[in-house]
Amino acid sequence: MRSLHIQTLTFFIVLISIPVFLGAQAITPEQPTPTAPPYTPPPMQAVREEQAPLRVLVASRLAMLAWKGEGEVRVINAGDGACLYTAQPGELVGIRYNPEGTVCALRRNYADFCEVAGTLRLESEQPVKVWTPTPDTYTAHPAPLYVTPTGNSFSVTREMMLEAYVRSVLPAEMPATFHPQALRAQAVLARTYALSRLGTHAEEGADLCANEHCQMFSLEGRRVAEAEQAVQATRGIVLMDGERLATTYYHATCGGTTENAGYAWGPAYERDYLNGIVDTAKPSAKSTPDIKDLLASQESFCQPSNHYRWVRQYAAAELNALVSRNLVTVTGDPAVHIRQVTGLHIEERSPSGRIATLRVEGDGASVLVYGDAIRWLFGNGTPGPDGLWSTLFELKVERDTYGRLVGVEMRGGGRGHGIGMCQWGAHGRARAGQSYRQILKAYYPGTRLSDEPAK
Ligand SMILES: [Zn+2]
Ligand SMILES: [Zn+2]
Repeated sequence: MRSLHIQTLTFFIVLISIPVFLGAQAITPEQPTPTAPPYTPPPMQAVREEQAPLRVLVASRLAMLAWKGEGEVRVINAGDGACLYTAQPGELVGIRYNPEGTVCALRRNYADFCEVAGTLRLESEQPVKVWTPTPDTYTAHPAPLYVTPTGNSFSVTREMMLEAYVRSVLPAEMPATFHPQALRAQAVLARTYALSRLGTHAEEGADLCANEHCQMFSLEGRRVAEAEQAVQATRGIVLMDGERLATTYYHATCGGTTENAGYAWGPAYERDYLNGIVDTAKPSAKSTPDIKDLLASQESFCQPSNHYRWVRQYAAAELNALVSRNLVTVTGDPAVHIRQVTGLHIEERSPSGRIATLRVEGDGASVLVYGDAIRWLFGNGTPGPDGLWSTLFELKVERDTYGRLVGVEMRGGGRGHGIGMCQWGAHGRARAGQSYRQILKAYYPGTRLSDEPAK
């Protein structure tokens, strides 16, 4: 009852606080509605040379929104460049679909005043504060902004040059207290990753989103001197696989070895430079480390990380709840159901020592879970912070005197998928004297930086 009450209360608060000039509450149209022409991402080379901006999605799936500027805000039809309206400083202007959900219109003082057919560009010399209903808040953004009708909702994107984008990503992706050479390595990766994902959110009028689906992007725009120096020192530099951009996945802590991308995510992700490395000063020749030896080692560059070693325990009831809830999602097979787990077995480890295949048994069924999805089985079923910290672990199944499973214990190492650069390892390598170039070549063997000659 308590949670129901809180939900009801929250609902009312949201309704009350919607700017009154918009009138009614949010409309969720059911009919197909006119959408803006699809966004065409800019050419990669032009973005890299800062001849063309990229667009970052800062809000999406909004039933309506509104904005007000600290200065004048010009509302431009992005299609033909016509100015539809000039709002005075502080004047609130909104946009929503009509009750049939077929036409969207600009709105002020309780009334629609201008129909809108496509993407809008908001121009101003001052920041523009955008009000969104979910979450119910104002967020200030530097102009220009784009407002795109996406069929039954709106998205808001920010336009910016690549280096400014990397400056805003870096503090969100790596602590500013990390060594300057590690920050430089991260800046090269952030830049490379952004260029490789231009147009990822074209349906919402954007190149990249602002969360971990693409890269974390700091909306507040706080300036971090260490990050700015790292971006400046690596300006324009990207990581190359021959003549192409390298695929630059990275993670927090590898725990001793990095992962082969194919084992974690499947053959489509295999690359010569993503086969996994041993993250120590003296890599051992052994290709598949013994998991006990590996977890006993304290010699890796990422050893200072809080997640270098970890222990997790699950009682049978917890394990049953996770498996019955998540097994369908992590296997993609709607027919699998296990409510009472009777066994967990490691079927195969990857060359890094991570679990490549986990067998889950119960209710007369036996189901295999592969690679990185093993982490999500112990979270909410999808990638996110809730799952296991890594798939690099020893597994102990505890049974009672009748042989019934009563719990499991995992002793593991590292945090994240383990592919590409280990961020804590990059910090450790930098402190040991490696440059950002050496760091990147260690984690992506066979790649080169774009300002170095191709072999
Ligand atoms: Zn994204
Ligand atoms: Zn590491």
